[in-house]
Amino acid sequence: MNLMKINLPTLDEPVQGKTYSLYGNSKTTADYDHQIRELADICLQKCPDIQELLSQIQKASTLKRLLRKQLTHQDAPSLLHFIVNTAHTMLAQYTVNVQNHLQHLSILKFWDRILFTSEEQYHLYMLEIELVNRIFAQSFQHANQKLAFLPHCLRDFSGHCRSAKDGLDYVCRGCSPKCFISHISKILKQHDVVPYIWMTARLQSLLPKLQKESSLGVLGIACLPELVRGIRLCMHFKIPVIGIPLNANRCLRWMGAFYPNSVNLEQLEEVLGGKARKIVQITT
Ligand code: SF4
Repeated sequence: MNLMKINLPTLDEPVQGKTYSLYGNSKTTADYDHQIRELADICLQKCPDIQELLSQIQKASTLKRLLRKQLTHQDAPSLLHFIVNTAHTMLAQYTVNVQNHLQHLSILKFWDRILFTSEEQYHLYMLEIELVNRIFAQSFQHANQKLAFLPHCLRDFSGHCRSAKDGLDYVCRGCSPKCFISHISKILKQHDVVPYIWMTARLQSLLPKLQKESSLGVLGIACLPELVRGIRLCMHFKIPVIGIPLNANRCLRWMGAFYPNSVNLEQLEEVLGGKARKIVQITT
């Protein structure tokens, strides 16, 4: 495929989120990218069956108290004990604001489980996304219909967004050269992925319907907990899914207002091209 070079947006300074930032103490997200790959490789040495590893992580990540106990409990170390402690050592630098956020969270928001995500859950979510990308990258590429759902918080907020409903959801009109959505949309189109800004689509009913029509692949970009939720929804419908986490969580839901955010576009191109990351061929 002959891809046209796209100039990346200039928003490349570190961003801090309400609970996490993939910059950590660094000026780029390259360190995070390295750490999460290494963590996945280390865990796969302990549990070489990637599907089994993913399944164990997905089950354990719903059990907050059990996860917390792994950090203090030293008896009879298990695979989960190893994963939680190794993940904490390698990833805690990216989740330094979680405890403070949880301490000040109003009980009135108890209905929003995403807001109550614990630090250990964040770490397992990071690992889950890495494993999912390794598992599904190739089957995503081979899907007849590839769709992407992008978060509207990646828009350029300095002007009036001209996106409009077209087809399954809102579509970017490319009105701002500074806009991440615009750049991401161009990259996705080059890879035959149809980009939508996720505003109104009811994925629960839409995805199985589309999957019946032709083989479907889905790419998601969102903050860590939302991305994992979307990934699990796709997996529930047996849809090949890949995902890129936002560099931080900075939208209205977390910060009370929208703040400029970013995403690792090099990682996006890499995952779309199926390059560099270890790709595991599976049959579904
Ligand atoms: S470039 Fe696209 S997403 Fe960004 S503000 Fe313009 S229409 Fe909206």
